[in-house]
Amino acid sequence: MKIAILGGGFTGMTASYYLAKKGHEVTLFEKEKVLGGLAVGFKSKGWDWYLERAYHHLLDSEDDILDFAQDVGFKDIFFKETQTSSLYEISSHPELVSGSDFKGIPDQVRDDPAQDGTDYRIIPLDSPQDFLRFPLLSLPEKIRAGIVLAFLKFSPFLTLYEKTTAEEFLKKTQGEHVWEILWRDLFRKKFGKYAENILATFIWARITKRAKKLGYIKGGFQTFINYTEEQLVNLRVNVFTGFEIKTIEKRGVGFEINKSEKFDAVISTLPTVIMSKITQSIFSQPYLKKFSKLKYLHAVVLILETKQPILEKTYWLNICASKIPIMIVAQHTNFIDKKYYSGNHIAYVGWYVEREHAFIKMSSKEMLDFCSPYLKKINSSYSLQPTNCYLFHGPFAQPIFDKDFVKNKPAFITPVKNFYVANLDMTYPYDRGTNYAVKLGREVSGLI
Ligand SMILES: Cc1cc2nc3c(=O)[nH]c(=O)nc-3n(C[C@H](O)[C@H](O)[C@H](O)COP(=O)(O)OP(=O)(O)OC[C@H]3O[C@@H](n4cnc5c(N)ncnc54)[C@H](O)[C@@H]3O)c2cc1C
Repeated sequence: MKIAILGGGFTGMTASYYLAKKGHEVTLFEKEKVLGGLAVGFKSKGWDWYLERAYHHLLDSEDDILDFAQDVGFKDIFFKETQTSSLYEISSHPELVSGSDFKGIPDQVRDDPAQDGTDYRIIPLDSPQDFLRFPLLSLPEKIRAGIVLAFLKFSPFLTLYEKTTAEEFLKKTQGEHVWEILWRDLFRKKFGKYAENILATFIWARITKRAKKLGYIKGGFQTFINYTEEQLVNLRVNVFTGFEIKTIEKRGVGFEINKSEKFDAVISTLPTVIMSKITQSIFSQPYLKKFSKLKYLHAVVLILETKQPILEKTYWLNICASKIPIMIVAQHTNFIDKKYYSGNHIAYVGWYVEREHAFIKMSSKEMLDFCSPYLKKINSSYSLQPTNCYLFHGPFAQPIFDKDFVKNKPAFITPVKNFYVANLDMTYPYDRGTNYAVKLGREVSGLI
């Protein structure tokens, strides 16, 4: 069969690989100049490794991408322990006041002494030991919360999780205070005005897949992407980069792309919103209308390349402080050695926002000016003189897993024969990730 794959992210690359292996004639279309989609990387002058435009790591529980790497013969994935912490505001939690009365948090588990002049505290919150030492909950609260976390970790997916929101579920099972301390700000920062509608499924998927060791790729994710592209070319896949799909029309039993080449089958890995726009003449309005009920947030990521790190030990910092309008800070070089980036430190500062949000139109300099006072609050000794600063937007990067989503998300099989969909909306109940992109790509290839 002659097959067109739309979109050259991990889903499109994986589907192309397995279909070409089966002997199909595959063409992969990607609108950007390089493959990789949301996981794409870049290399600044003097760097030895690529860096993802948006922070990326793997979990050691994610087998699909490891199996795919094995299938294509890629060996350079490694795992290591990292530190995740949360940032809290002292004024809201007087028990965090530092000095000799710094109750509850021994010095050795505090992230960063440079915080002493600030109104905030970074508290490691990664392991059961961290949780036991965590100063903002009582022992009975920790025991109750721990039992619920253990239940979520080992429970299979239950339909109950789709009948209740994460907020309702967590308040009910762990208690109101635990919700406020551990979860409320995480949900608000990640999902904005949709926070209270997110299904309990989300929290189940997060906890069940949680891992202490995180994975990365020698040379950066783009090294794996480039390697996969080489394997595709070896399998005679036609890889067209810089090729934007603008129209798809039905021609007899096949499809015509951009009013030129014809194909027997199409797999769209494009965001559902884009797919809906270009398939108006193929699908019925009722089919497409379902998708108009899906909601998304857009990723905004600022990358700072600096001489001094923002965080001393922590790789991943959740900002549980309502006065700091940042979702996360990920100090990449506390995970991956800075020697690969000209000896400079790399930090990501991330948000998910709506399309109309002011951030979407701001330049990297404007974003930096916006962030700087807040980064200084996190680390008082941090002097913001980034050597370089980069800005990345990920459109439709975060689907909103609410009740509408479950009813209206796309499925592989569409009403039109030989037109398939496999995109990041379909990783549900898991949050999107390269592991699930690979899984989708493999599964959809199995349908042809
Ligand atoms: C901020 C952020 C952090 C993340 N962190 C992680 C992480 O730590 N670990 C992890 O595993 N995953 C992470 N992910 C998710 C991961 O990047 C995605 O799940 C995965 O890359 C999705 O792959 P995909 O192929 O399904 O979609 P995409 O990568 O979105 O691929 C779709 C492709 O379609 C192309 N396209 C769009 N329109 C057209 C058109 N008209 N014509 C041709 N091509 C078109 C796009 O350019 C894109 O390349 C993160 C994502 C974001 C945004």
